[in-house]
Amino acid sequence: MKRKAIPSGHRPAAPLHWGQAGGWIEAVVGSMFSGKTQELIRRLRLATIARQKVQVFNSALDTRYAKDHIVSHDLAKIPCQAAAKAKDILSIIEPDTQVVGIDEVQFFDDGIVAVCEELADQGRRVIVAGLDQDFRGAPFSVTAQIMAVAEFVTKNLAICSVCGSPANRSQRLSVSKKLIEVGTQDKYEARCRRCFKR
Ligand SMILES: [Zn+2]
Repeated sequence: MKRKAIPSGHRPAAPLHWGQAGGWIEAVVGSMFSGKTQELIRRLRLATIARQKVQVFNSALDTRYAKDHIVSHDLAKIPCQAAAKAKDILSIIEPDTQVVGIDEVQFFDDGIVAVCEELADQGRRVIVAGLDQDFRGAPFSVTAQIMAVAEFVTKNLAICSVCGSPANRSQRLSVSKKLIEVGTQDKYEARCRRCFKR
């Protein structure tokens, strides 16, 4: 059977096309090992396949892997540019960039919220991934603010390393009291509300 052609002028209900529908912010949040960066990379790849111009940023603080790529725990990666301060993104961004990815948003200064809003106001799709709670289970202020102003929020859950329940907290296994301790599997594990120890 032949498919009926979509009449020209038809627009999908969701804003899908940059330049026609304006910009917006998508927040992908959750604990460690909840697949946030994987999800960010997946969305950015789809945009790249559609030949949209993509630029990706991470904080110069995130030193886990090479700084010229963001890398998920399953080692999927995509090129990125490191920014020391949030507002640096506004000077690095190119005029024709349609999709902006920001990984580990909690590592940025408070200015990142206004930067995301500005990029979206300019008509760009802004996709932000980050931790929503610190190792004490308290909200990361920057992530909380972005969740509030975003059009779309995806909250990912991990699986509790102790009991197997859905997990939304990151248990620090080392004794460090630093708020931001960059690390991977040797320093943290995902825990549910019941198994999380403050
Ligand atoms: Zn548990």
